Amino acid sequence: MAREKTNAGTHLTQLIVGSYMDAFKKWKEGALVVWGAIVIPAEIFRGFENVVYCVPETHAALCAAKNVGPELCQRAEALGYSMDLCSYPRIDIGWVSGGRKISPTSGLPKPGLLVSDNNDCSLLTKWFDVHHRNMNIPHFMVDVPFCYGPQEEKDLEYIVEQFRDLISLVEKMTGQTFNIDRFFKASIQTALAMGEWKRFLECAKNRPSGITAFDSFAQMAPFFTSRGTPEMVEHYRILADETEERVKEGDFPVPDEKYRLLWDNIAPWHQMSRMSTRLMELGANIIAAPYTLCIGGLEGSFELFQFSLDKDPLWYMARTQNMSVCPYGLDLRTDAMSWAIEELGIDGVIFASNRSCKVFSVMQMDQQRRISEKFDIPTVMIEMDHADARKFSEESAYMRLEALLENIESRRAAA
Ligand code: SF4
Repeated sequence: MAREKTNAGTHLTQLIVGSYMDAFKKWKEGALVVWGAIVIPAEIFRGFENVVYCVPETHAALCAAKNVGPELCQRAEALGYSMDLCSYPRIDIGWVSGGRKISPTSGLPKPGLLVSDNNDCSLLTKWFDVHHRNMNIPHFMVDVPFCYGPQEEKDLEYIVEQFRDLISLVEKMTGQTFNIDRFFKASIQTALAMGEWKRFLECAKNRPSGITAFDSFAQMAPFFTSRGTPEMVEHYRILADETEERVKEGDFPVPDEKYRLLWDNIAPWHQMSRMSTRLMELGANIIAAPYTLCIGGLEGSFELFQFSLDKDPLWYMARTQNMSVCPYGLDLRTDAMSWAIEELGIDGVIFASNRSCKVFSVMQMDQQRRISEKFDIPTVMIEMDHADARKFSEESAYMRLEALLENIESRRAAA
């Protein structure tokens, strides 16, 4: 049975709808609209009076969650884009090319500047280049070195320099002066919000878990739509308070929790409610995912990276550029996942091989082997696509998921 909608759930909807409406309003009033990749620090744009920031990947995820992913992908495919390309750009190109009405938000306001980076994947820079050519607007690309280990000081300085160039470009394009105080305040808001976010995620440590990974997938959205705002801090505070309260009252998403699972990859946006319900019926809870655990941390660590008032916030922004899992090398991924398995008491890991996100998926077989060697827990690999439901077979995925649960059971019986 579906759980009653929480206050944080209602607040989330209001916050997301409000942020899209606000972006359209400001665009109509003449603000410069920036389309940025998910890890580009929005706080930089909050340092300007009249600049708004939108994230095409987050909008594509929303389209997929509202089940219009395949329809928009098909529009891009009709233009000649391969079905093998990531479904996020196909969705994005699909709505931009005449599919605006299909989008739950009527798309995004028209951009004047594109800002991408290459640390999640290089495909993203090519995707933004398509818009750059078709819309004839500038495309600023942040070059972030890949990290096989902790970020090096020279790489950090290199990223800070590029952020300074980005600020100069926005000043030139808008005629506005970058306001360091506004930027500083926005950075503090993000740091505060990250503390609340981690408090929410901590509720997965409880037995039964106070959350599912699906809760965290849905609740990550404000980090992209409202980053650097007091509204984001307020939202995550409401979320953490309410989730802790529910745990105290014994109100759990999977009360009869027999299996605590970890999900490795991007959220299966088109399967959120279906998958959580089917698993709940089996007493299984996917309680966490590196995809959301990583927010607020550093490469290879899911623990909160503390903001320091003594440092230039540009330093903080550059230092956290590799927080998302894609740019981690295999050792960093294994370290981070090991932390999650130990801290959260994981019984089994689902490696979701994602047809779209090759950069996330390419190391999974090696990582699966490493985790199986290191921990006495079973793992499974399933096939999926995070936003194109045509590339997901529910029955073959569940055959494997049920086999995983049986494997956990038989190990328990033998212990
Ligand atoms: S391939 Fe992965 S990292 Fe690149 S845009 Fe798609 S989902 Fe994002």
